[in-house]
Amino acid sequence: MGSAETYQAIIGGKHVSPGEATFEDIDPATGQPFATVARCGADEIDAAVAAARDTQENVWRHTRPVERARILHEISRLLERDREQLALLESQDTGKPLKQARSDATAAARYFEFYANTIESLFGNTIPALSDTFVYTTREPYGVTGHIVPWNYPLQISSRTVAPSLAAGNCAVLKPAEDAPLTAIKLGELALEAGLPPGALNVVPGFGEEAGFALATHQGIDHLAFTGSPGVGRIVGKAAADNLLPVALELGGKSPNIVLADADLDTAVPSIVNAIIQNAGQTCSAGSRLLVHSAVHDQVVEAVAERFKAVVLGAGVDDPDLGPIISRKQHDRVKGYVEQARSEAELVVGGRVPDDDRLRGGYFIEPTLFDRVAPDSRISQEEVFGPVLATTTFDDFDEAVAIANGTEYGLIAAVWTSDVSNAHKLARELRVGQVFVNTYGAGGGVELPFGGVKKSGHGREKGYEALYEYSQVKTVALKY
Ligand code: NAD
Repeated sequence: MGSAETYQAIIGGKHVSPGEATFEDIDPATGQPFATVARCGADEIDAAVAAARDTQENVWRHTRPVERARILHEISRLLERDREQLALLESQDTGKPLKQARSDATAAARYFEFYANTIESLFGNTIPALSDTFVYTTREPYGVTGHIVPWNYPLQISSRTVAPSLAAGNCAVLKPAEDAPLTAIKLGELALEAGLPPGALNVVPGFGEEAGFALATHQGIDHLAFTGSPGVGRIVGKAAADNLLPVALELGGKSPNIVLADADLDTAVPSIVNAIIQNAGQTCSAGSRLLVHSAVHDQVVEAVAERFKAVVLGAGVDDPDLGPIISRKQHDRVKGYVEQARSEAELVVGGRVPDDDRLRGGYFIEPTLFDRVAPDSRISQEEVFGPVLATTTFDDFDEAVAIANGTEYGLIAAVWTSDVSNAHKLARELRVGQVFVNTYGAGGGVELPFGGVKKSGHGREKGYEALYEYSQVKTVALKY
């Protein structure tokens, strides 16, 4: 893939370039540009919203769920057909290891399959309220949905948010992140190939402050789904409030792995390591805090450190254990957190930018383990979005709960124990959207409802729940 190729927007079923305006997409493993992308702005957002409205009102709203399902199944099939090609593109664009990019492509296909399978069972109710009146509810699409997605799982998150919206009968405008927009554009192309009506899915790449803000503030959308940082979530949330729009906010996290004294450490440790190494820690539901009971502290920290030392770094397309950070800006940010934490906690392993000719120019950092981290310190409280794990010790159940719940975030948590009562007690006490026991499924599977509490956001993506997110109840009362 050379930088000669220009990736265009897809609006109303056509490839569109906003005049001369483009931006360069950087390969994070080399720091070099590798593709040129259309830089859309307010005019293209206007055109995309108009195309979505036209298709929604004149075509898509009138299709039966089974017809939508057939098209979504076909999108899923095409995503599987092109899996290898999509994975390579995603890997180069984001820096993520190829095996991760392959499983992201599979998950993307599964989202379309799952919502194709479930849309035919999105039923209304009858309500036996009055003896002389027949009352029933139906679930209706909003109309035009806006979707702003981040760079860490571009294909997967685009599919996760767009598939249930299309299934429910909406038409969508998708704004991918400027750091990794390519697979979202490919998704738009595959959707057209699958027979999705032109205008049902519009993909509008561009910068956050331009295309993103124009979409978030657009008067012509009916629902907004944002996945990204809490800072931008606040901007987008305010814009939605001004327009009186419903908004789903999937924001950050500071998710803990909580290891009780009776945990099976052989199972826990590899999972704890993977939860922060996956995607170089650039996962909203990364397991970035390790809360460990004092009785097993030394054992756990030693075992995690050994595994961190064995992690192989490299360009995503070479399929290492750990790829680069997405951009220079994020790399500087991660290094800043590590530097500050050195004086506040005990650095057990990592923390350096590797001195390796093979990795020259790329945005790499070693997997980094800190111990004796105070629960109120920055790396315990703030999202680093890098392969940096903060360890804190606790002595009893209540202390574990207090530390786990002691951040602004509440996305997911994992509990490691062989005591089923403690597992359920913790699951009840933890203020998060998902709890895993004796496993860590960052975000869970396609079928598992996902979303945060507190500053991790509100609204639910994934699972059947997302069909409720992207539809509204209408009540009809008919007097005999
Ligand atoms: P970001 O908030 O900077 O960008 C996300 C998207 O918002 C991008 O498409 C960007 O172009 C757009 N954007 C930026 N400024 C905007 C503005 N003023 N108006 C409208 N849109 C704007 O986030 P990021 O750096 O791309 O991603 C990292 C963050 O996303 C982390 O905090 C992470 O936890 C979070 N995240 C959350 C989830 C989840 O499901 N909860 C998933 C992935 C990432």
